[in-house]
Amino acid sequence: MSDLKIGIVGCAGRMGRMLVNQVTQTHGCIVCGGVEPAGSPFIGQDIHALAGLDPTGIIVAGDTEALFDLSDAVIDFTAPAVSVAHAKIAANSGTILVIGTTGISNEEQAEIMACGKATVIVQGANMSLGVNLLAQLTKKVAALLDDDFDIEVLEMHHHHKVDAPSGTALLLGKAAAEGREVDHDTVADRGRDGITGARKKGDIGYAVLRGGNVVGEHTVMFAAENERIEITHKAGDRSIFARGAVRAALWAKGKPVGNYDMMDVLGLGD
Ligand code: NAD
Repeated sequence: MSDLKIGIVGCAGRMGRMLVNQVTQTHGCIVCGGVEPAGSPFIGQDIHALAGLDPTGIIVAGDTEALFDLSDAVIDFTAPAVSVAHAKIAANSGTILVIGTTGISNEEQAEIMACGKATVIVQGANMSLGVNLLAQLTKKVAALLDDDFDIEVLEMHHHHKVDAPSGTALLLGKAAAEGREVDHDTVADRGRDGITGARKKGDIGYAVLRGGNVVGEHTVMFAAENERIEITHKAGDRSIFARGAVRAALWAKGKPVGNYDMMDVLGLGD
C-alpha cells in the first residue's frame, strides 16, 4: 500500500513543525507539502529544515488549494477562521482533514460540521491519548456524583496561548456536563472577578493560568464538604498532540465521509 500523503497547513508554527517531524518518523505516511499564509517569511524555506530535520527540497508554499489537491490528508493546527476556510476547501477537494485548532466558536463549529457531509473531518481539542482518557474518566465520575460535588476545571498553558479557557479545559467541562446530563453552556462559569456572589450549585467552573513554556496541564476537581477528588493530566511536550493527529490522519483513510473525534480514533467511545 502506498504511503498516505499528508499536507501540513501552518507548517512553520509550533505544532506545524512538530507535525512535520512526527509524519516523517511515522511508518505509512509522508509529508507531501506545507503552507503558510501569503506574506509569511517562511515561504520558500525547506519544510523539513524548519522542523530541525535534514532538508529534502520540499519548500513551504503559499497555495493552500494546491496543497489540498496534492494531499490525501491535511493536518491543520492554525486559527479558528482559518480552519473553517480549510474545511470548505477539504469539502470541495474530498481531502481528509484533521483539525487540532482550538478556540472555535459554536457558529464556526457548525460550518465545519456541514463540511463533514462531503469529506472526512477529524477534530480534537486535544489529540493526546491521556487527555481523551481523562475526559472519559471525568464523564464517568460526573455521572456517579451528584451536585453536592462542585466541578471545577483548572488549566495552565504557556504565555503565547491566545484562547481561554483552553480547548482541552472545555472538552473536559463538556465531558463532565455530559456525565451529569446537563447543558454545558448553561452551567459553565468561564470567569470570576470581583463580587461574584456565592458559587451556584451545579455550575461547572473554569480557572485559567498562563505562564512560561508550560505545554498544557489540566485538573478536573470534584469538591464536596470535607472531600475532594482531583484528576490531572500534564503534557510533557507537544509531540503527544502531533502523534495523535498523525494517528487520526492514518485512521481516517477509507472511512465514510462524516465528522469524527479523537474518541473515535482512539476507540474510547461508549
Ligand atoms: P502557532 O501560532 O505557533 O502556529 C500557527 C501557524 O498557523 C502559524 O505558523 C501561522 O502562520 C499559521 N497560519 C495562520 N493562518 C494561516 C493560513 N491562512 N494558512 C496557513 N497557515 C496559517 O500556534 P500553535 O501553538 O502551533 O497552535 C495552533 C493551534 O493549535 C491553536 O489553536 C492551539 O490552541 C492548537 N493546539 C491544539 C492541540 C490539540 O491537541 N488539539 C495541541 C496544541 C495546540
